[in-house]
Amino acid sequence: MSQYYIQIKDKEIPIQVRNYKNSNRVKIYFRENILHISKPTYFSKNHLIKMIKENEEKIYEEYLALWNKDNLNQKHWYTGEIFYYKGEPFEEQVFYQKGEKLAVRIDKQNKKLILYFPEKIKEEEKKKYGDKLVKKLLKQETKNMLETKLPEWAKKMNLAYNGYQVRDTVSKYGSCAFKTKMLYFSARLIMLAEREADAIIVHELAHLEQPNHQKPFYDLVKSYIPDYDEIHQELKKNQKRIMI
Ligand SMILES: [Zn+2]
Repeated sequence: MSQYYIQIKDKEIPIQVRNYKNSNRVKIYFRENILHISKPTYFSKNHLIKMIKENEEKIYEEYLALWNKDNLNQKHWYTGEIFYYKGEPFEEQVFYQKGEKLAVRIDKQNKKLILYFPEKIKEEEKKKYGDKLVKKLLKQETKNMLETKLPEWAKKMNLAYNGYQVRDTVSKYGSCAFKTKMLYFSARLIMLAEREADAIIVHELAHLEQPNHQKPFYDLVKSYIPDYDEIHQELKKNQKRIMI
């Protein structure tokens, strides 16, 4: 089945129409980002178009709300989208150029994430390559940060680890293998505020001594990060910020 769309203002809205023999009602509703329409078989296409026209404003508003919500969950690499770097909103700025150039850089001074794409790139490819470029950048930036922060905190806490790895994970910010004394961190750490990244680093280091999340563990963590609970709540609340 191919996907159909209706154009309302600046948006192409995907639709799915179902016919019901024994129905005498028309229902129009969104499920995910698709406009579902169920109608009696006898109800003609022209009637349907008329009905959609009459409800255009309402449909558009509902779709826009869904579209904005979706934008929190994933990036499309558009100019004006917001990208979090060290806990601060950076604005994306996208340039399309002749040739094959694909690149990304962070302009820390002006708080911008600058992306370069070939001018003829297709939307799906832009998403695919944009994600890939940004993930690579995040991994490198997170590694650079850990390079200094991890030994500093380990020294402060008087704990020793064997090594660490950075992986692109979003469900977990970090983990610790108690037996091997290896630490694992999410490449998205650099998107968080410094105090949040510190809390995660201290949390994982504390596991070298306390493998379980029990009172002695939290006592140890909070002796270095007194507002740990508050930061933990903040991280939960802002989880969507690390989605790309
Ligand atoms: Zn833990």
